[in-house]
Amino acid sequence: SNKSKSYSFQAEVAQLLHLVTHSLYSNPEIFLRELVSNASDACDKLRFEGINNAALFEDAPNLSVRVSFDTEAKTITITDNGIGLSQQEAIDNLGTIAKSGTRDFVSKLSGDQKSDAQLIGQFGVGFYSGFIVADKITVESRRAGLSHAEGVRWISGGTGDFDVETIDRAARGTSITLHLREDALEYLNGWKLKSIINKYSDHISLPILMQKEVWQESEVEGEPGHMVKTDEWETINSASALWTRNKKDITEEQYIEFYKQLSRDQEAPLSWSHNRVEGSTEYTQLLYIPAKAPHDLFSRDVKTGIKLYVKRVFIMDEAESLMPMYLRFIKGVIDSADLPLNVSRELLQESRDVKAIREGNTRRVLSMLETLSSSTDSADQEKYAKFYAEFGSVLKEGLGEDFSNKDKIAKLLRFASTTHDEASVSFADYKARMKEGQDAIYYITAETLAAAKNSPQLELFKKKGIEVLLMADRVDEWALNFLNEFDGTPLQSVAKGAVDLGKLQDEDEKKAAEEAAETFKPLLERLSTSLKDKAKEVRVTTRLVDSPACLVGADGDMSSQLARMLKQMGQ
Ligand code: ADP
Ligand code: MG
Repeated sequence: SNKSKSYSFQAEVAQLLHLVTHSLYSNPEIFLRELVSNASDACDKLRFEGINNAALFEDAPNLSVRVSFDTEAKTITITDNGIGLSQQEAIDNLGTIAKSGTRDFVSKLSGDQKSDAQLIGQFGVGFYSGFIVADKITVESRRAGLSHAEGVRWISGGTGDFDVETIDRAARGTSITLHLREDALEYLNGWKLKSIINKYSDHISLPILMQKEVWQESEVEGEPGHMVKTDEWETINSASALWTRNKKDITEEQYIEFYKQLSRDQEAPLSWSHNRVEGSTEYTQLLYIPAKAPHDLFSRDVKTGIKLYVKRVFIMDEAESLMPMYLRFIKGVIDSADLPLNVSRELLQESRDVKAIREGNTRRVLSMLETLSSSTDSADQEKYAKFYAEFGSVLKEGLGEDFSNKDKIAKLLRFASTTHDEASVSFADYKARMKEGQDAIYYITAETLAAAKNSPQLELFKKKGIEVLLMADRVDEWALNFLNEFDGTPLQSVAKGAVDLGKLQDEDEKKAAEEAAETFKPLLERLSTSLKDKAKEVRVTTRLVDSPACLVGADGDMSSQLARMLKQMGQ
């Protein structure tokens, strides 16, 4: 039937729309970027489904996006000939938020406009950003493979509900028509639309077409002329995927803009690396180090940030086989020349090419970090400090996850110490400052830096002027289990076992301790008996200077911090 039916938006969508229409965006022009990006996604999906079903291309195999505007009707229309939407898909995909990330986002909204605006920028609101400039949106679509009679029209004023009806539509794909608000009429301008598309969508691999305009002088003497549209459509973007272009033809701004769209991050990345890798496995690699951690970096279902393409055909997002988990914060694109187009996630896990790509990616990222971290340039040093504050804890997971790169990862780690409050001390720095005769890198783990710093276990080290690394990050204890030494020097927790300061210990001190052990033997025995359920051993120590007693773990024991962490995790 042709009767239209009304549906309510899912509550989260209504909430989001409220936010959008109350113009949280400081940057309204991004509506075009979002809609063009959806059009491009729709074409990617058609290409992907078309791999196994060429009939879906019907008689229009050339994919493109058309952007047009109508000054009289006050509308802008974005049309693609991609996969299209069935009626049910229009209801589901345009009326609810499918992605858990976006739902998550909505749940985090605080009602404070400023911080919400920042959050929203991190996620983007995709389709709904149309309502920044429009007070009504009409979507007309037909899904590839469905008959002309199975088209759909979806209309909404961006408040609580939307209407859907069946229409006849010959053209495959989707047209999105924005009925502009009075305060957004400035977008009814070909030059303006072109410049927005060039700014945000130049890297889109499809042609984006607009009608060519020509200047027409006025027929009335003395009156200004104006632009008029012709029937000719012209491509206004470069229409080649950014990563396929030659490095030297890509500007810094283009790299940054591409990153922002890829990652949904508003901030520019700290660094990136773009390479064509040749050899037994050939691929293009474009990897970015973000400046800011996403909100879900430590959530259970966090995904890696790599998009996989095969010969420029988009295959999948979040290709977890292409990057180890401890580098999950890296964003980027891999375009392989060797993988089959119909590769699945399962196949990826077994592929030797994928293994090679993953190793190549890992090497590349670690070397980018190495370059940043060892740079003498103060801007780079600042970048590395910023990187480390955001992602240092994740990087440490690599000690346990990536045995073959353990040494490279260890080099990148930074800690606070008894002489440095900032997390700025590398193992190498520490080694360079070691005392004559010191033969271990000493560290202490605790719940907080303050607790570590004030631990009685440090008394002797302070007295002797020996630097101790302070570790209060939740993963430190676990990660350090995998690192016994750095560059030939053993790591030694000062909270475990009998601290043997080796050559640093004076002969007199050792002797005094032995004598004390002898003198206090009866006392120690009494203490041992009365504490027998609580302490394994009671002994005289030289590690304390001011405090009368302290608890220590046995060598190889779990520390109290690790025990707490495991308990929190329910183990
Ligand atoms: P995202 O693009 O991140 O999935 P959006 O809000 O931009 O989120 O779009 C929501 C959904 O609407 C898309 O996932 C897609 O299913 C559908 N959609 C939007 N635009 C189009 C289009 N031009 N063609 C086909 N489907 C579309
Ligand atoms: Mg989108």
